[in-house]
Amino acid sequence: MRGRIFSIEEFATFDGPGIRTTVFLKGCPLKCTWCHNPEGQSFSAEYVRSPNGCLACGACIAHAARRADGSLLLTEASKNACPRELVRLCGEDVEVGELCERILSNSDIFHSTGGGVTFSGGDPLGQSEFLLACLSYLNGKTHRTVQTCGYASKDVFLRVLDHCEYMLFDLKIMDRAAHLAYCGVDNAIIHENYSALVRSGVDFVTRVPLIPGVTDTAENMEAIARFISGLGVQYIELLPYNSMAGSKYGSLLREYKPRFDPKRKLCWGSDIFKHYGIVSKKM
Ligand code: SF4
Ligand code: SF4
Repeated sequence: MRGRIFSIEEFATFDGPGIRTTVFLKGCPLKCTWCHNPEGQSFSAEYVRSPNGCLACGACIAHAARRADGSLLLTEASKNACPRELVRLCGEDVEVGELCERILSNSDIFHSTGGGVTFSGGDPLGQSEFLLACLSYLNGKTHRTVQTCGYASKDVFLRVLDHCEYMLFDLKIMDRAAHLAYCGVDNAIIHENYSALVRSGVDFVTRVPLIPGVTDTAENMEAIARFISGLGVQYIELLPYNSMAGSKYGSLLREYKPRFDPKRKLCWGSDIFKHYGIVSKKM
């Protein structure tokens, strides 16, 4: 079986315990306006250009195609036209065994640091059969972590939970209408899956990206605190907005439209979480 990835990061220390290899699967069902990995959103392979050494000659644009919404899309011809070879295809199709053996080549480091593999994205549950095949291949061979936004059918989510030792679960916006507006999907299934995760006994960490004026409002923090404390969760990690989030959109000829003020000071909500008996950690 083959799946599509867009990056592999070795020696990662932020994506679970120990030193890890993080595999980024292509495609995400959400479209968060603050996403700092826009090249991970589409399930299709797509051409991207690097700004480093760009002559601004416009040859890649001259050979671009148009998306349905009218925006431009780099093509194979754009790649061939670039005099600096700055246009490349983002998205590589890999076999389960080939990928897993590459991951396991770092087994000694995993073993000595308590690390392992983390499947991230995009959202890895978007390629659930490939993900499950990789997790099955790695069963008993290394520690398996899945990083997810939790948007998947209950059946898929429970099967993935059955095949990993650790999960990094993102919660973003509790209000359904606001979640739909900022992330493109309803959050009801995300909350159901989160509840299933808590009940499952699988180790996990809840992470909240702090987006100024969107996820860091007192109302949203309080709603998150109420929701997770009601399930008995007492620890949360807060990830500050990545001020470089917009930097990759130009590589895809896309415009970054955050729809919030990226310069607004973040609110960490420590008192709110404390009030609900939750330890919050700034990452
Ligand atoms: S869930 Fe993550 S990868 Fe998907 S669009 Fe949102 S920020 Fe990007
Ligand atoms: S990426 Fe290449 S083709 Fe495009 S403007 Fe830069 S140098 Fe020219």
